[in-house]
Amino acid sequence: MRGLMQDVPLTVDTIFRHAEQHHGDVPIVTNNPGGKVRTTYAEWAQRTRRLGGVLDTLGITADGRVGTFAWNSARHLELYFAAPCTGRVLHTLNVRLFPEQLTYIANHAEDEVVFVDRTVLPLLWPLIDSMKTVHHVVVMDDGGDNPVPDDPRVLDYETLLADAEPVEFHVTDESSAASMCYTSGTTGNPKGVVYSHRSTVLHTMAVVAPNGFGIGVEDVAMPVVPMFHANAWGIAQAAPAAGAAMVFPGAMMQPQALADLIVDEDVTFTAGVPTIWQGVLPHLAGRPHKLRKIGCGGSAVPPALSQAYQEQVGLPIYQAWGMTETHPVASGGTLSRRWQDADEETKTARRARQGVPLFGVEARIVEAGTTDTLPWDDTATGELQVRGPWCAKDYYNPDAGVELSTPDGWMKTGDVAALDEYGNIRIADRTKDLIKSGGEWISSVDLENAIMSHPKVAEAAVVAIPHPKWDERPLACVVLKPGETATEEEILDHIRPLVAKWWLPDAVEFIDEVPKTSVGKFSKKDLRSRFAEYPVK
Ligand code: ADP
Repeated sequence: MRGLMQDVPLTVDTIFRHAEQHHGDVPIVTNNPGGKVRTTYAEWAQRTRRLGGVLDTLGITADGRVGTFAWNSARHLELYFAAPCTGRVLHTLNVRLFPEQLTYIANHAEDEVVFVDRTVLPLLWPLIDSMKTVHHVVVMDDGGDNPVPDDPRVLDYETLLADAEPVEFHVTDESSAASMCYTSGTTGNPKGVVYSHRSTVLHTMAVVAPNGFGIGVEDVAMPVVPMFHANAWGIAQAAPAAGAAMVFPGAMMQPQALADLIVDEDVTFTAGVPTIWQGVLPHLAGRPHKLRKIGCGGSAVPPALSQAYQEQVGLPIYQAWGMTETHPVASGGTLSRRWQDADEETKTARRARQGVPLFGVEARIVEAGTTDTLPWDDTATGELQVRGPWCAKDYYNPDAGVELSTPDGWMKTGDVAALDEYGNIRIADRTKDLIKSGGEWISSVDLENAIMSHPKVAEAAVVAIPHPKWDERPLACVVLKPGETATEEEILDHIRPLVAKWWLPDAVEFIDEVPKTSVGKFSKKDLRSRFAEYPVK
């Protein structure tokens, strides 16, 4: 017997129309360097339809890649919808990548046009001749006085929009590509992940639900996570789908500016990587605000950071886990019923975990290199693998030998994790960041969390240094809070009761700053090469 329900395709234009028809009066704010720009979903929708017309006029092919090189803004939100709703594929380029990577990615994706914020135009323009398929560069004037090159390829966003006709959106194939995003590629070439319309809609539904980010009409949502980092964690689709107001930080990503925006614009939901919240904390502490959820992921959320937010801002951090390859949100740390009445210490410990897979995603852990599953006892650790309708099956035209899926259809994450009896995830580390010492491994994340619970420590990253006897040993790279001093012994004494004896780092290096990746995570690759010759104990 067949079900008798309508077979309506799950396409991104349904999200667009919902916001357009039902939430037209809801405000959208962008914090540009020259001042805030205010608009509404009604105006955004009308401009997005005209932007569809611009893509036609520019001659972008039916499923052509529409590159963006931009901060979070209402204009970027126009692109987020105009490209997929006209059948094209949105491709967000990370403005912080190295030039060679940007060129590689634009050529690999075969971008036909790049929409660029004027504030970052000087980063893109020198590469334009190396981007073989890019025929147009459309400048979005977000302020500043960067010169705009006098070149026939260069066009002005607002002029194009003013001259364009609005178009109808009607995508019929839910399996067609809606957008693509490259992982920043800590090893090898960046890898392209291609989201379908269907995966985007299903991910949106998961993200708006309470166990995800829980976004509704009463919310003011501010994605601090860049729209070029893993699909802005789905917030740019979830907020219009929920009719939530939106606040975009634009190029104003400084901690003070972000904290002011949260306070002044009554932001209720926001999300970003841990280093962002580390930086924002002193600027937000003690100020009145309307926040009810701070989402955080991309790397492990230090319990000390979540606790500091609880104490100084009045709410803990909500941890989510995911990858570019999972759209990206795959699990979330909403406390299950059994922990709701636990004491604060227990709750803090539970929030340090990556949480339960969101409905729609399944998780398992396996013995590395096999499909042998390991028990859910919170002790056994193995490679975390996931499956679900918003998990990638393959990369886009991958290099030879790069395989994302197992023979039995699960996605390999490259993360090492344990699952408790309810399948709540505890990420031990990324495979490449584990420290292999004497045939056993040490979790750099656990060591970092232990060190960051020291009151004088601002940030800590632990990396492997080569060792002739043990293969690798941990080196702790520690940044102290401003004005603090500490000795190696003081740090080691603090963590001695918290970790196994043989996990104790061989040395503590006090450094001024932990280098960050293009998406604001600790760049352990940089630290490993900086300390590759570290004197052995
Ligand atoms: P990149 O690989 O460039 O860092 P992603 O943002 O896709 O790009 O990274 C995904 C990885 O980030 C995951 O495989 C995992 O290692 C890490 N990660 C994401 N969220 C968390 C989290 N909450 N806790 C620990 N690690 C996380």
